[in-house]
Amino acid sequence: MEEHRIGFIFCVCTGKCPGFAQLDIWDFINIVRTEYPVEYGFIHPMLCDEDGERFLEEFLRQGSKYIVAGCAPVMQKKLFRDAFKKAGLDINKDLIPLDVRNMKLKEALNVVKTALREAGRDV
Ligand code: SF4
Repeated sequence: MEEHRIGFIFCVCTGKCPGFAQLDIWDFINIVRTEYPVEYGFIHPMLCDEDGERFLEEFLRQGSKYIVAGCAPVMQKKLFRDAFKKAGLDINKDLIPLDVRNMKLKEALNVVKTALREAGRDV
């Protein structure tokens, strides 16, 4: 089976959204990027704003899958549909959307681990 690169983006809704108040966002991203089998991990303040869309259009590329930790998967699919399409990606296969709102660190890390295992990674 072809192994895709998996990039990890954590979208934090400006960083002031109460949905992330329980989560130490810096511990979360640093554990994922250094300890989990992803190519990289970083925080974006608002992927669904206009600059976020421009960023995705510049950044997304074929051959990669993208875990986006942030809001509800159904929401993410609506918000990122155009950017994935423009990049020639299939939002239903190339986006792995994770809802990590209202979680503490351990719970959010478990959500990421489960998604990585489902994508065939050992973690
Ligand atoms: S994509 Fe979702 S998590 Fe990111 S800023 Fe928009 S609503 Fe918030």
